[in-house]
Amino acid sequence: MTLPDVDPLVARMRPFGTTIFAEMSALAVRTGAVNLGQGFPDSDGPPEMLAAAADALRTGQNQYPPGPGIPALRAAAAAHQRRFWNLEYDPDGEIVVTAGATEAIAASILALCEPGDEVVCFEPYYDSYAASIALAGAVRRPVTLRPDETGRYAFDPAELRAAFGARTRLVLLNSPHNPTGKVFTPDELALVAELCQEHGTFAVTDEVYEHLVFTDAAAGHLPLAGLPGMRERTLRISSAGKTFSCTGWKVGWVSGPAPLVSAVLRVKQFLTFVNAAPLQPAIAVALALPDAYYTGFRENMQQRRDQLVAGLTDAGFDVLVPEGTYFVTADVTALGGRDGVEFCRSLPGRCGVVAVPTQVFYDDPEAGRRLVRFAFCKRPEVLAEAVTRLRGLATTR
Ligand code: PMP
Ligand code: GLN
Repeated sequence: MTLPDVDPLVARMRPFGTTIFAEMSALAVRTGAVNLGQGFPDSDGPPEMLAAAADALRTGQNQYPPGPGIPALRAAAAAHQRRFWNLEYDPDGEIVVTAGATEAIAASILALCEPGDEVVCFEPYYDSYAASIALAGAVRRPVTLRPDETGRYAFDPAELRAAFGARTRLVLLNSPHNPTGKVFTPDELALVAELCQEHGTFAVTDEVYEHLVFTDAAAGHLPLAGLPGMRERTLRISSAGKTFSCTGWKVGWVSGPAPLVSAVLRVKQFLTFVNAAPLQPAIAVALALPDAYYTGFRENMQQRRDQLVAGLTDAGFDVLVPEGTYFVTADVTALGGRDGVEFCRSLPGRCGVVAVPTQVFYDDPEAGRRLVRFAFCKRPEVLAEAVTRLRGLATTR
């Protein structure tokens, strides 16, 4: 019998095309543009970590690691969370190593959501959220972040309250937030915590930018799990890719109370089973680096933020200054842009720079129609070259 002549892809994945990051990075390669689209650093992480990975490769640590991750990495992840966030997790049963934060997010949602369950999230949202929610057959309930009169992204508390209901299973919270660079304030987090408790819902927190909150942010990083009544209902996700500039290694971990973590492990074991054997000991070394590493990393990234914010402002963009992450968003209206997607598709041809339109991260594209995102996790000379090119934009309208 011949195969039916229809799209073989399951219906729930059909709305998802190629990710914007892949599309824009391919465009950068094709056009030779400076790539400030996809968020990856262009220099390596700590040398101690790289040496430990090379050692592990040479000393036979190349077979399947244990399902939850090697003990040294789980112990290091527990010690790190105690050191920086005053959170206690038992390395045996409350921490699972995953193939990046992406797998942690997917496994958490697949583990907790029945078809039809609702997931409250904030838009614009990181693109894998919508796909993971769809794979689980769950339904997203986005709450929109909008720049206020001071240029800070904020949400309407009434809109958040209204998003919670009888079918809400979990809230998916990303702070510091990609793509806006928003750091949720203690008051905002308190409201999320209050609603989770009022409605008996879980929380999954994507904290991959936990070490990228800048010194001029209104508040420092505050894990939702640290708020009263939240530890027992929260899965907290971290990624080595961001904290140690090794996005291609895809090592993350999820921490939480044993019943929740064990549910995640049940799913994870059939997604990838295990991952990154020789990289796990190296991340354990990196996590134990002294505070000076973390401070230096943040200061360095803050300087780059300042460099790009100044350059974009100079080039005529209306910049929304981020408090964290390694992204800055800007409104393109002042440069004659009416639509971020159109703007980003034409940018390489106009001036040789790639950025990402943030409207693709909204259910309501109107809310992000004129916003674009630039990554500043690049060497200062690369940022300087991008700014020089962008300055020419005003003349190519
Ligand atoms: N969450 C957010 C908010 C991200 O920006 C990213 C990617 N940079 C991820 C998750 C995925 O992290 P990983 O590469 O560790 O899978
Ligand atoms: N997290 C990175 C970003 O937001 C890229 C991740 C990806 O390419 N999937 O740019």
